[in-house]
Amino acid sequence: AFTIEQVKALVREFPDFPSQGILFRDIFPIFRHPEAIECLVNHFVDHIRALNQQVDVVVGLDARGFLFGPLIAIKLGVPFAPVRKRGKLPGQVVSVTYMKEYGPDVFEMQADAIESGKSVVIVDDLLATGGSCKAAEDLVALMKGNVVLNAFVINLVGLEGHKQLKAPVYALIEC
Ligand code: IMP
Repeated sequence: AFTIEQVKALVREFPDFPSQGILFRDIFPIFRHPEAIECLVNHFVDHIRALNQQVDVVVGLDARGFLFGPLIAIKLGVPFAPVRKRGKLPGQVVSVTYMKEYGPDVFEMQADAIESGKSVVIVDDLLATGGSCKAAEDLVALMKGNVVLNAFVINLVGLEGHKQLKAPVYALIEC
């Protein structure tokens, strides 16, 4: 079995990916070990349960939030709902425009993904500037949901992404 410290140690860093000057954090090595995946998921579930707050839906961000968001949702016994880039989700959607490094981008959710008044945990692999997660918080707010936690594997604390966000931030790794 893996300890959470062993899981953390699996995250790798790649200098100059996807472009010069970027230090890319890669969580995929965790997914090479089923017991490491389970340890990661249990860690998040334990943290969420310890909040002692109602959680009705887990929301995952495109694309690496889809890797473990549904696994957390299964253990909590609640639905999973995806946030996707524009044009990927069928039916009626809610949309939010947010700023990326090289201009605006659009995130969407299916309009019936979250019922009014439901409590939500948002998950993604990494918090950087906070722009993506803020867009997700805004989408949940459009559906009158209530974000109780934003949870990440990694928080690049120097970028102060948490300052963009209304709900508290939890990260397994802060660097
Ligand atoms: P933000 O919107 O600036 O907070 O950027 C966070 C988004 O960019 C997340 O969806 C991450 O998956 C992605 N991202 C930024 N840097 C990295 C990285 O080093 N590794 C993996 N994903 C990253």
